Amino acid sequence: MKERVYFIPAAAQADDAAESARLADFIRSGGLFDFIAEKDMVAVKTHFGEGPKTGHVRPVYLKTLGEVVRERKGSPFLTETQTLYKGNRTDAVLHLNHAQSQGYGYENTGMPIIMADGLFGDEETEVAVPGRLYSSVKLASGIVKANALVLVSHFTGHLAAGFGCAVKNLGMGCSSRKGKMTQHSTAKPKIKARACTRCGLCVKWCPASAITMEEKSAVIKSALCIGCGQCLAVCRFDAVAYNWNATYEDLQKKVAEHAWGVALTKENKMLCINFLTRISKDCDCMTGFDLIAPDIGIVLSRDPVAVDAASLDLVEERAGKKLTELAYDIPYRFQVDYSREIGFGNSDYELITLS
Ligand code: SF4
Ligand code: SF4
Repeated sequence: MKERVYFIPAAAQADDAAESARLADFIRSGGLFDFIAEKDMVAVKTHFGEGPKTGHVRPVYLKTLGEVVRERKGSPFLTETQTLYKGNRTDAVLHLNHAQSQGYGYENTGMPIIMADGLFGDEETEVAVPGRLYSSVKLASGIVKANALVLVSHFTGHLAAGFGCAVKNLGMGCSSRKGKMTQHSTAKPKIKARACTRCGLCVKWCPASAITMEEKSAVIKSALCIGCGQCLAVCRFDAVAYNWNATYEDLQKKVAEHAWGVALTKENKMLCINFLTRISKDCDCMTGFDLIAPDIGIVLSRDPVAVDAASLDLVEERAGKKLTELAYDIPYRFQVDYSREIGFGNSDYELITLS
C-alpha cells in the first residue's frame, strides 16, 4: 500500500508568515495533528542552523506549529541535541545561547527549548530495534520520553550521507552523543600531507584529540578518531580525505536503524514535515551556503521514509538534475532503500498536492 505524502507547493513571492499560516491551515483541515492528545508533551524537533545564513527552518513556522499543538491541548516544546564536534552546539549552554542568537527564543517561537540529551549530550535511553546492525540504539531521553513528536527537517545535500532530511534528523539528530559516535565511528579520514599547510585548525577542532601536528603535516591517529567529520569541515586546503565509498553505505544503514528506534517510540504519534526551501549543497551544520535548487515547498507525512523519498524526487524533478550533480557524488538513495528493506518505512508513496 502506498503511503500518503502531502505537498504544499511554495507560493510565488509569499513570505514566511503567510506560508506558515498556510501550513497551519493545512494541518488543521487535514487533521494531521489528530494524533496529539490532551496533555501530551509534544517535542518539536528542529535544527537551529550553524549561522544566520544557512537555510534552517525559520522561527515563525515553529511558532505556528506550537500554536496548533496547543489547540489540540498538547504541551509543545522545541528540542535539539548536542553535536559531536566542537562548535556552537557542543553542550546545552552553548547550544541554547546559539539558538537565542539565531532567533529561536521564546519571544519568537512561544515555546521553551528543552535539550533532549541534557547538559552534555549524555542523557540517553536505550531503545530496542529489530535492526540488522543493532538490537538497541542510544537515543536522547527527552525525545524518547515525549508523548508525541513533530519532526521539522530541512532538505539539504550532505557530504557523508548524500542528503539529509527526516531520516537523518531522526537518526542522527535524536541520538545521544554515544548514539552519534556509534553511527560515525567507521568513517575515518586521512590527511594528505602534500596539501596540508599545517594551519592547525583541525587539531584545534577535533573533538577526540585525535590529530597531532607533526613535522610535515597534521596526522590523524585512527584509533582515537570517532569519524565525526569535523576535520573535513574545517580544512580550507582540501587536505583531509575520506574514503566515502567504504563508509557511505555503513553510515546510512546506521542512521536508518537509529531513526527506526526513534520512530518505534512514537508509533502513530509523529508527523514529519520536510522543508524544501533554501536548499543548500551542505547541511545546516556547515556555515557554507550554496543554493542548489529553487524553493519547492513543504512535504508532510507520518512516514519518515515516504516523506524523504518524495522530497528527493521533488528536488531532482524541480532542479532537473540528479542529487549527485547538485551536491556530492554519493549513492544517496541508500538510506531510503535500506529503510524500506529492513521494514522501517515505506518509500512507495502517493503524493497529494495542495491546490
Ligand atoms: S586544517 Fe587542513 S591544512 Fe590545516 S592542519 Fe589540518 S589538514 Fe592541515
Ligand atoms: S580526526 Fe576523526 S575525530 Fe578528529 S575531527 Fe577528524 S573525523 Fe573527527
